[in-house]
Amino acid sequence: MSAGGAGGGSLADLPGGSAPWPRQLVLLGHPVAQSLSPRMHGAALRAAGIDAPYEALDVPPATLADALARLGAARAGGNVTIPHKRTVWERCDVRTATAAAVGAVNTFWHASDGALVGDNTDVDGIAAAARALTRERPVRRVTLIGAGGSAAAAAFAIGTWGGATVALWNRSVPPAQALAQRFACVRVAKDLPSALEGTQLVIHATPVGMRDDEVPFDVAALPPGSAVLDLVYRIGATALVRSARAAGHEAADGTGVLVEQGAAAFRRWFGTEPDRAAMWRAVTSGAP
Ligand code: NAP
Repeated sequence: MSAGGAGGGSLADLPGGSAPWPRQLVLLGHPVAQSLSPRMHGAALRAAGIDAPYEALDVPPATLADALARLGAARAGGNVTIPHKRTVWERCDVRTATAAAVGAVNTFWHASDGALVGDNTDVDGIAAAARALTRERPVRRVTLIGAGGSAAAAAFAIGTWGGATVALWNRSVPPAQALAQRFACVRVAKDLPSALEGTQLVIHATPVGMRDDEVPFDVAALPPGSAVLDLVYRIGATALVRSARAAGHEAADGTGVLVEQGAAAFRRWFGTEPDRAAMWRAVTSGAP
């Protein structure tokens, strides 16, 4: 089956979906200085004429509980990034079915009764970016590199594609085994070359290449015609994407995932589609 959508559903179907719009939006992470989310959501909010600030909050783990209490009092909404996706999942009063299955929260809001609601829109972002990259071609064999929160979101998305299987490789074996136990479509490969054998789509879900030109694997090992989706994003594309393209493969970095997970979060908060073109411009222009 093709790389279809996942984690959809109308706002009315979501817990807290009838909540008032958040008047304050934040990104919770540590560190957050490099994140493009404030710039991207700032552009979406301006384009929609919504007068709510979106700011990055650098929250060390020891102060996360206090930060969530303050955000609860303000009925704020927002996004969550490394290292808080699992802890926020644990602290949510309500989780969407997608967040419950993935085990990590990247988007939250407060219901009208004050309940903290958590969702995972990385699933929507990865599914949409994979669909765009493969141009809806059938994908039956996927290689997943990494076994953290975004790998779980990818595994959940792939599980909805109908018959697609995942060969998973991670530098540490126990997290890979734990992921395979949670998602029926996933099996742990014995090494990286066997994970790449016969693959049609590689999804890279580790931070390798975020800050330098390190690549997680040699693209010479890619089968002809296979595509590469790197969840890492960098202005000018990651070294993995550049080398995969140079070797004749279709490849995309995580910019599309960033925009699509952000668009899905915007829909959860405001019940309306954001201006994706404005979001793309904001994350690719380099302008403040
Ligand atoms: P995570 O939960 O912390 O998981 C990180 C994974 O990467 C683990 O499997 C870890 O392996 C592996 N890893 C870490 N450092 C490594 C290294 N030096 N070499 C090889 N493997 C390494 O993180 P995550 O939330 O899944 O995020 C992973 C990446 O995806 C990050 O770079 C993040 O920015 C990116 N991401 C992008 C988007 C987007 O919108 N584009 C969305 C989500 C995530 P161990 O189990 O051995 O520790």
